[in-house]
Amino acid sequence: MSRQPKKTNVILIGAGVMSATLGSLLKELVPEWEIKVFEKLSKPGEESSNGWNNAGTGHSALCELNYTPEMPDGSVDISKALKINEQFQISKQFWSYLVKNKLIQNPQDFIMPLPHMSLVHGEKDVAFLKKRFEALSNNPLFAGMEFSDNPERLMEWMPLIMKERTTNESIAATKVDSGTDVNFGALTSMLFDYLINKDVEVNYRHLVRDMKRAQDGSWEVKVHDIDGGKLEYHTADFVFIGAGGGSLPLLQKTDIPESKHIGGFPVSGLFLVSDKPEVVEQHHAKVYGKAKVGAPPMSVPHLDTRYIDGKKTVLFGPFAGFSPKFLKTGSYFDLIRSVKPNNVLTMLSAGAKEMKLTKYLIQQVMLSNEKRMEELREFIPTAKSEDWDVIVAGQRVQVIKDTEALGKGTLQFGTEVVTAGDGSIAALLGASPGASTAVSIMLEVLEKCFPEYIDKWEPKIKEMVPSYGMLLLENPKLIREIHASTANALGLEEDGKQASQKESAVTLLEA
Ligand SMILES: Cc1cc2nc3c(=O)[nH]c(=O)nc-3n(C[C@H](O)[C@H](O)[C@H](O)COP(=O)(O)OP(=O)(O)OC[C@H]3O[C@@H](n4cnc5c(N)ncnc54)[C@H](O)[C@@H]3O)c2cc1C
Repeated sequence: MSRQPKKTNVILIGAGVMSATLGSLLKELVPEWEIKVFEKLSKPGEESSNGWNNAGTGHSALCELNYTPEMPDGSVDISKALKINEQFQISKQFWSYLVKNKLIQNPQDFIMPLPHMSLVHGEKDVAFLKKRFEALSNNPLFAGMEFSDNPERLMEWMPLIMKERTTNESIAATKVDSGTDVNFGALTSMLFDYLINKDVEVNYRHLVRDMKRAQDGSWEVKVHDIDGGKLEYHTADFVFIGAGGGSLPLLQKTDIPESKHIGGFPVSGLFLVSDKPEVVEQHHAKVYGKAKVGAPPMSVPHLDTRYIDGKKTVLFGPFAGFSPKFLKTGSYFDLIRSVKPNNVLTMLSAGAKEMKLTKYLIQQVMLSNEKRMEELREFIPTAKSEDWDVIVAGQRVQVIKDTEALGKGTLQFGTEVVTAGDGSIAALLGASPGASTAVSIMLEVLEKCFPEYIDKWEPKIKEMVPSYGMLLLENPKLIREIHASTANALGLEEDGKQASQKESAVTLLEA
C-alpha cells in the first residue's frame, strides 16, 4: 500500500455545522489556503446538525429558563443569558454577510422568525419568571420582551396550550417576537455548496480512523475511503476535529496532553412530532417550560413550531434516553472504548457524582408512549395520541472533566474547544448551546490556533461580523443597528411583513 501523504493547509473532520462554519470563515479570510474535508456519511449535516436531530432553536436565551438560574439569595443570574444572546448576534451577522454577498441564498430555507416564550405554573415559578423578566426586559439585547399572567392574553399568545386548561393554578409567560427557528442541517448544506464552489475538496464516505503528528509538526490523518475500500494518508498544518459525538475518540488518538482526563457521556433524545393541520395552525412559537427536578438542563421541555424542508410541524420534547453510542450512526462500543487509563478516574468520579442524572435517565428510558403523551398534555391538555409520532433525535456527548471548582469527574453541559498548545489541532466537544453559537466558537478556534494572523485578519472579520471584539451589551446603538440589518438580510423583519410572506411561501409549498 502506498503511503504518500498529500499535504494541505487545513483538514476539517466531519461535515456538520461546525466544520461548515470554520471552513467558510477560513475561505473568506485566506481564499488561497487549501482545505480538505473528510465525512463518513454521504451528505453534509446528517448527524446532530440535521433539522430533525435537534430542536432548531436559535438559542439566544430569550426563552430558555436554564440560562437564568435563581441564586440562593433569590436573585436571577443573567450572565449566561447575556453571553448566549451575544453569541447568537454574532452568528446572525455572519449569516447576513453571506446572504448579502450572495455566497448563500434564500435564508428562509434555514431561518424563520418565530416568537420565543417561557411558560411557568404555580406561584413560586410565576414569581421567578417575573423576576427574570424584570432583570432582562430593560436590557437592549432582550428588547420587546413582554410578561403576562392574564389567561386571556396567554390564550392569544398560545391558543393550543391554553385551550381547555381547567386548573386554577397560577400561570404566566413571557414573549419575545424576535426569536427564530433555524434548520441547521439546511444551513450546513448551503455552506458546503459554497465551500465546494470555492474549490474545497469535500470527501464524503471517508472515515477518519487515526492521526499522528509528523516530524515537521504537521498532522498525518489516516482515512478509510469506504466505497474505494482503501486507506489514504493526508497531512495538514492544521486539523479541526468537528466530528460531533465522534470528536472525543479522535481527540484521544492525537495523544496531545490536552486530550487527557476528559471523558464523554452520551445522552440520546426523542421528540414527539405532529403535522396535523389542527395542531400546526394553532401554534406559532417556541414555548419553553421549566426542567423537572433532577433533569439535566438540556431536557427542558418545549413545544416548538418547526420549519423543515418547506413544511410546518410542531415538535415537543426532548425526552432523554441512554444509548452508549456517541453518534446516531455510531457503535454500541463507543462509550466503553472511550474509557482510557488516563480518564478512568474522571469517568468513575462522574458516575458516583451524577446519581440524580442516572436516576432521571433510567426513568426517561422506561417511559411508554402514553406516559410521554401525559407529559405533552401538561403543555397541550387536548393532545390526542393519534396526532403525534415519536422521532429519534441526535446524540449529545456531554463532556466530563476535572475542574478546580467542582473536583474530579464533573459533567459539563456546555461546549468545549480543546486545542493543542501549538494551535496545530483543535477539537470541539459538547453540544450546548451548540449550533446557534457556531460562529463565535469558530472565531474562538481561529484566535486560539492562529494568533499570528488575527491582527491581519481583523478588518475582514469585522466586515463579516461588525460587532467583533466589542461587547454589544455596552453598545445599545450597535445592537439596534445589528438587529435591524440582520433582520433585513435574513428576512426576519419584526413588522411581520416579510414573515407573513414567508409563511405563505411555506403554505404554498405544502399545498
Ligand atoms: C436532541 C438535540 C437537540 C438540540 N437542539 C439544539 C437547538 O435547539 N439549538 C442549537 O443551537 N443546537 C442544538 N443542538 C446541538 C446541535 O445540534 C449541535 O451542537 C451541532 O449540530 C453540532 O454540530 P457538529 O458539526 O459539531 O456535529 P455534527 O452535526 O454531529 O457533525 C459531525 C459530523 O462528523 C462526522 N464524523 C464523525 N466521526 C467521523 C469520523 N471519524 N470520520 C469522518 N467523519 C466523522 C459525522 O458523520 C457528522 O456528519 C441539539 C442537539 C441535540 C442532539
